[in-house]
Amino acid sequence: MQRIYYLDVAAVLVLISLLASLIFRRMLRGKDNRAFVQYVILLIPLTILDILRTADFSFTGIHDSVLRKEIFCALYNIVNIMNYTMYIYLVGKITGTFRIIMRKKILAALYFLPFIVETVLVISNFFNHRFFYYTSEDVGVVYHRGDLTWIFIVVGYYYVLFSMVHIIICYVKKRLSGVKYTALMVVFPINVITFQIQRMHPELLTQMFGFAITVLILTFFVINPVENLDMETGAKSYTAFRNSIGNVYMSGDDAFVVFGKLQNIASIRSALGYDMYMALLRQIADNFYSRLKGNIRVDLNLFYLKNGLFAYVIRGDYHIDEIEKEVQIILPKLRDLFVVDGIRLKLDFAICGVAIPREIGSERQLIRFSETFDYAIPINEYVRYSQVAPEKDFIVKNNIDRIISDAIKNNKFEMYYQPIYSTREKAFISAEALIRLKDEQLGFVSPALFIPAAEKSGSILQIGEFVIRDVCRFLSQGDAKNCGIRFVEVNLSVIQCMQANMAEKIQDILKEYNIDPGRINFEITETASDYLADAVLRTMNDISVNGNGFSLDDYGSGYSNLGRVMSFPYRIIKLDKSLVDGLGDSRSYEIMRQTIILLKSLGAEIVVEGVEDEDKALWFAKMGCEYIQGYYYARPMPEREFIDFCRGKLGTL
Ligand code: C2E
Ligand code: CA
Ligand code: CA
Repeated sequence: MQRIYYLDVAAVLVLISLLASLIFRRMLRGKDNRAFVQYVILLIPLTILDILRTADFSFTGIHDSVLRKEIFCALYNIVNIMNYTMYIYLVGKITGTFRIIMRKKILAALYFLPFIVETVLVISNFFNHRFFYYTSEDVGVVYHRGDLTWIFIVVGYYYVLFSMVHIIICYVKKRLSGVKYTALMVVFPINVITFQIQRMHPELLTQMFGFAITVLILTFFVINPVENLDMETGAKSYTAFRNSIGNVYMSGDDAFVVFGKLQNIASIRSALGYDMYMALLRQIADNFYSRLKGNIRVDLNLFYLKNGLFAYVIRGDYHIDEIEKEVQIILPKLRDLFVVDGIRLKLDFAICGVAIPREIGSERQLIRFSETFDYAIPINEYVRYSQVAPEKDFIVKNNIDRIISDAIKNNKFEMYYQPIYSTREKAFISAEALIRLKDEQLGFVSPALFIPAAEKSGSILQIGEFVIRDVCRFLSQGDAKNCGIRFVEVNLSVIQCMQANMAEKIQDILKEYNIDPGRINFEITETASDYLADAVLRTMNDISVNGNGFSLDDYGSGYSNLGRVMSFPYRIIKLDKSLVDGLGDSRSYEIMRQTIILLKSLGAEIVVEGVEDEDKALWFAKMGCEYIQGYYYARPMPEREFIDFCRGKLGTL
């Protein structure tokens, strides 16, 4: 019989090209991708064995032997049945159900036994020839079915049935989307049709070609490298992250997610250039992945969600303590990872772990958290979600006095400094002092939470004194001055201003540390000045007579009243972040332009707060705003880092 091999050869070529593209695209990461690659790899020897067991080699001059054909055919049958079990394995890895099959003894037996039985039968065929055999004829070596061949066919259909039930259950239990479900199911009719064609017309080798087609369908609709891979970092994409997380929430499984966000990406990108920046992200991805992967045997996927944000999703039998320990070991290594032109860049990361769905109950909340978590946690420290969780609000608000007196006694407060950029001098010449509180039990507590609570309870006075003292201590060391910082912005609560002796207290502390009052500018919020009592105004006057200036904080966040703005000679007016965020259409820019002109006519300098991108920074500079403060340039950071930051910037700007 003349067989048509073109289809088998075409199938091998398709499979090899596909495999090459999967490897090239780093599709070896993640258990589902790896299972798919293994599946494709297995189809290649299967197709080659299919050719070997049927081909007539007489034309090559090699003498064909019955035994050789039998060996090829036996191997073909074993690999063929492996192919069926591999498909189930693949579906199991995509849906996270394979470990369930392995855990349940009955399911594991149903999965493995037929495979073992068929393998034994294939081997026994060498002795009994009940399944297939070859004879040597004039036309060459000829294949014959045995009387028990049907057993192999039954085993094949058995696995098809097993797979179908498996896929349907996964779909019903919402572990598979409609598209993936359809693609995984379409594989069966295609394979059955091509198998039946080949049974009826053995000269047409359609079966392998059918497999190649189904693999392509799976590539496009299930594995989908374009949609699921971030081409630049080689990690999985944002879309894949959404799918994976959606799967966790729908299936009711649990998972541990670790977010890692590279900080100051705007300045890194502009310093390194785009190509180097991408190389950096790739290195971070590789390191993140291989270090954790090497140390923890769990189902782990790494995703890149853009803007320097990476996420691990860990499923299966994991131990949170182990993961957390590993992350803490990786972090310092990651920080030192990147060397450019022989200079080691010190990278900053915000890293936070979340157990889902236990700690965050919905996909939407998790996504929102991923977008903002780094604003609320200390940098370069691993933080667990429960330490920053909102349930904490309640505890903090109800125990504020104890927490604050304990924090003062035990040195749990620390001042952070956020650099302020002067657009005129093109240098960082100021900074805002922002307080941070780290409590062993509560973890990091945001000032946005404890400051209002402390204002209500009155313990803001203790905090205020600590802040002024600590800023003076810092300024008295001279480091700040040496790297160009002329003055520091210190937040003053209106409650502090209601204290009659506030001005004296401040003066005493300044004298104690020998600080020139011009080096501290006090920020007071617009909403606070809303209720400006005479007492407050008097204190502000006294303080400014001492020589300290004032900034009007958060201008534009409340009901901006120009009369109020003019009631006191502010040195600086700080445009609130909400105004900056509100810029979008040309009208909003025009209103902002007019606002700036108006504020400048009052004689105050302007600090723009909360600027997060370059376009806005450039625009405000063009509008003549004197200072810009925001994550675009830098985040608030501890004293030491702040000094390093300013030193590093000297001469570079
Ligand atoms: P604030 O005075 O308006 O301080 C600016 C806040 O905006 C800071 O939050 C800062 O980290 C954040 N920020 C700066 N640039 C950006 C940016 O580009 N994007 C975003 N999303 N945020 C940015 P922080 O440190 O959490 O402080 C919150 C508030 O707590 C402060 O708002 C201030 O009202 C109060 N606070 C902080 N430290 C002190 C203090 O020492 N004394 C008093 N009385 N209040 C303080
Ligand atoms: Ca402020
Ligand atoms: Ca502000």
